[in-house]
Amino acid sequence: MNSNIEEENNLILLDCPVCGEETDFVILKKPPKAVARCSKCRHTMRVTMKRVKYCMVKAVISYGSESIPAKIELVDGELISVGDFLVAEANDKTYNVEVLSIEENNTRRHKMPAEKITTLWTRLVDSVIISASVNKGATTTPLYEQVNGDTEYTTDTITTIAGKMFHINRIKLRDNHMLTRKGKTAKAYEIKRIYGERS
Ligand SMILES: [Zn+2]
Repeated sequence: MNSNIEEENNLILLDCPVCGEETDFVILKKPPKAVARCSKCRHTMRVTMKRVKYCMVKAVISYGSESIPAKIELVDGELISVGDFLVAEANDKTYNVEVLSIEENNTRRHKMPAEKITTLWTRLVDSVIISASVNKGATTTPLYEQVNGDTEYTTDTITTIAGKMFHINRIKLRDNHMLTRKGKTAKAYEIKRIYGERS
């Protein structure tokens, strides 16, 4: 099984073949011959860990009748689709954008791995879609809500997404970094997914 390194406190997120879902694994043995154990069912397996590689993709941000050249940092292999919300950089500023069109060698695509994209055509947006996976007992519920990109979320606090109140256990960032320590804060546009728990 392949996985990007997303560890903090020797934890890694993996799809557990026994639990049938993404769970925290404890790294028992470091790479190259890494071994990890599911924190839920204690299933132990070998993992091949590879470093996350980044690529800079050319982007054009349009707002009103104007457009500005920008770039977007993405993870190699990350699948980008029309309608995705991303963070673009231009003139030392960051912008929340929505992907309108994906160009690969003069061809327009609907979906494409990041490293193959020639240009991303985007529009400026204030809001992003925040997504969360919330456990209650043995059930995990996915939650989505459109929020302002600057909305802050902090680990080990209570928040509400899509009308459901829950406790934030950890936050996975777009760069695949995982915030697990108490009191770590991230803004909505930096977040890939929030993991939480309801009682
Ligand atoms: Zn498991």
